[in-house]
Amino acid sequence: MVTDINDTSCDVVQIVTSSGRRITANSSLLASASLVLERMLQLEKQKQRRNEESKKITGIKIRILGVPHEAVVAFVRSLQSRSMIEEDVEKYGMHLLVLSHVYQASWLKKTCEMMLANLLTTETILDVLQLSHLCDAQRLHLRCLRFLVKDFGAVEETEAWRFLQENDPWLELEILQFVDETDLKRKRQRRRRAKQQVYMELNEVMECLGHICEEGCTEVGPMDRAPAQSPCGRFETCRGIQLLIHHFASCHKKSCMRCRRMWQLLRLHSALCDQNTSCKVPLCMQFKVKAEQMQEKSEGGKWDLLVSKMKVVKVMSMLVKKMKEESTP
Ligand SMILES: [Zn+2]
Ligand SMILES: [Zn+2]
Ligand SMILES: [Zn+2]
Repeated sequence: MVTDINDTSCDVVQIVTSSGRRITANSSLLASASLVLERMLQLEKQKQRRNEESKKITGIKIRILGVPHEAVVAFVRSLQSRSMIEEDVEKYGMHLLVLSHVYQASWLKKTCEMMLANLLTTETILDVLQLSHLCDAQRLHLRCLRFLVKDFGAVEETEAWRFLQENDPWLELEILQFVDETDLKRKRQRRRRAKQQVYMELNEVMECLGHICEEGCTEVGPMDRAPAQSPCGRFETCRGIQLLIHHFASCHKKSCMRCRRMWQLLRLHSALCDQNTSCKVPLCMQFKVKAEQMQEKSEGGKWDLLVSKMKVVKVMSMLVKKMKEESTP
């Protein structure tokens, strides 16, 4: 209920609505919540003082027109109580947004935007989007666009979308652009994640290669060590590398994809390895010497990029491991 102040103090204001009905409200509360109402009430009070001087006692009266009486009741109630009832937003949310925008009730506008955003449906989304644009409600506008991206298929099927296509091509263009850009961004993110995954897997391969050559695993290991009795923690990857090493040692083909892959892994290991003569990975030293000779006429391009990315992944992976070790008691 609207606060009904049945006294004759100057804090009482009568609000006339479209239907000609009146709402009694507290002018101080209204003025503190809305800049426009504050100004309107000031002017009305000045007018009243002039009337009093000329002995015409009238009382303060303002008009809030253009929206249903009940919406004004909800607006005044929200301004006075500085809170908003969900039922009011469900029934008069759009009116409340317009009123809070027009009467510059910033707190109410913000709350209204938030609550309307939680009530969006495929049926109402386009109306709310248009209104948020007209009322310069940027938070709500963004929420509407995000909703559209998520449910665009369903919105496209609505009568409201067909109406918008026929009557507001600019808004249609804005929506389509936003949907497209978001889609593109998601695809880029997915691609970036997939690439990152490849680097992580390659890093695991590098670690397995080091582990096989340093400690040995079930099938391949240093000459001075017996094969491990049980599989290591990353046996799935490790076994693949061991099979590749077996193949590499026994293959005599001139051109072989698997051998080429092994060469690349050994070369990559060498580029990332910071040990000197102590490294037990085959050809590590030879590749290092060759890389030094080639330094001046660096290949640049994809290989260097791969090495620099792998260096970052290696450091990150070591840091993550260290953090995990430190966090386990
Ligand atoms: Zn292993
Ligand atoms: Zn081969
Ligand atoms: Zn090495």
